[in-house]
Amino acid sequence: MVPNTSNEHNSALSKDKTPIAVFWFRRDLRIEDNTALAEALNNDVPVLPIFIYDRLILNELPENDARVNFINQTILKIKNTLKSHGSDILCLDGEPATIWKELISNFDIAAVYTNRDYEPYAIGRDKEIAQLLAKKDIPFFSFKDQVIFEKSEIVKNDEDPYTVFTPYKNKWLAKFEEENPIQLKNPKLNKFHKGDYPSISLEDIGFKKSDIQVQDFDLTQLHRYGDQRDFPYEDSTSYLSPHLRFGTISIRQVIAQIDKKYEVFLSELIWREFFMQILFHYPKVVTQNFRSKYDNIQWRNNKEEFHLWCQGKTGYPMVDAGMRQLNKTGFMHNRVRMITAGFLCKHLLIDWRWGESYFAEKLLDYELSSNNGNWQWAAGTGCDAAPYFRIFNPQSQQKKFDKDYKYVRKWIPEFDSFEYPDPIVEHKFARERALKAYKIGIES
Ligand code: FAD
Repeated sequence: MVPNTSNEHNSALSKDKTPIAVFWFRRDLRIEDNTALAEALNNDVPVLPIFIYDRLILNELPENDARVNFINQTILKIKNTLKSHGSDILCLDGEPATIWKELISNFDIAAVYTNRDYEPYAIGRDKEIAQLLAKKDIPFFSFKDQVIFEKSEIVKNDEDPYTVFTPYKNKWLAKFEEENPIQLKNPKLNKFHKGDYPSISLEDIGFKKSDIQVQDFDLTQLHRYGDQRDFPYEDSTSYLSPHLRFGTISIRQVIAQIDKKYEVFLSELIWREFFMQILFHYPKVVTQNFRSKYDNIQWRNNKEEFHLWCQGKTGYPMVDAGMRQLNKTGFMHNRVRMITAGFLCKHLLIDWRWGESYFAEKLLDYELSSNNGNWQWAAGTGCDAAPYFRIFNPQSQQKKFDKDYKYVRKWIPEFDSFEYPDPIVEHKFARERALKAYKIGIES
């Protein structure tokens, strides 16, 4: 897409010299129970909320990106809420450092408030902005918000990070019990800066409406979660993931709403934090195997087979149904994510990074830490990964989790006809080929 360098949508940046605090929305797109926003509103200076359409990210995305659609809709909702309280959100389009230079010269900024983001890009960006502000003696405050426990709050007794889930989870639960960290923060809506700023539409930032929409989350099905969450045809999972990703609900609001007896569900939320702290402590995982002993695997990386996998045309119904669900809706059920990912890495011997980046492009809930952690888990290269010789048999998975082919028929209309292809590779042959490639890789 065409990069927008003119900043023509930033005309709202006319000079305003009333002292303000700035709250910068990023992946916390809500007013309720927003830690940094509540902190900002606790001071005497009026708070100006801003959002930056970050060109460094947007320029990499297709023009109908469904996540940009969701962000744009959500910002509009926030704008309407703020307007009903006589305030507004200032939306800007450009590279963060350039935008912040303009903000500094146009406003009398007393302080900047943000919630922490643990991805390497965000850490670098925030460091740069904090330095820019520091030159003008403007403090940059950041708060924990997207997780219950962050960074090194859950570490081993010797202070090393955990790389195995179960002891991490046990410590997490013990600390949770001890600290009772769920205190929801209500914003003081009368403390916002009184402003009036233009909206930025999808078209303004060079994007188009997408056919794919984020669905609402649903916590009413959790009584079935423990028994049924692995059956992809059953609507028994929460669909929370994009909401947690973009912060349209806080993790504290979620936990405050769920019954203590939903332990399995809570455990999944802890997996999310586990992978976040892995990414924080081991940023090399973005490009490298967590366990370097797998660095010498000779991936086959056959482009044609990769293409068939992407399209859902491998002849393995559970794999194909999953990929088609992903392509059509931006979502794939967790069990099927495990099957499709394992199939790509083991049956086709394609580098997990190829699959990871395809998911990153398509998933509405794309989260670097969870996507990377789960892909490396599936490939056997990650922390706490299944041993490499555990290879899912997609046909047995089918029998176990979709025995009546309801999920498969839902996503593969031609499944019962001659048009549906034969398997791209025979399971037993592929299994042995994978075992050999992994073994040689480890030993070389
Ligand atoms: P639920 O089952 O209702 O779970 C509730 C929440 O727990 C989820 O929203 C999520 O925040 C968290 N969670 C559940 N399972 C996991 C898990 N295995 N790892 C980390 N957190 C979990 N999840 C993402 O949010 N973003 C991704 O990019 C992502 N990529 C994945 C890639 C692969 C190969 C695999 C196997 C899993 C991936 N997951 C990812 C994890 C999981 O599949 C999704 O979180 C889940 O399917 C989302 O649906 P839900 O909200 O209905 O989940």
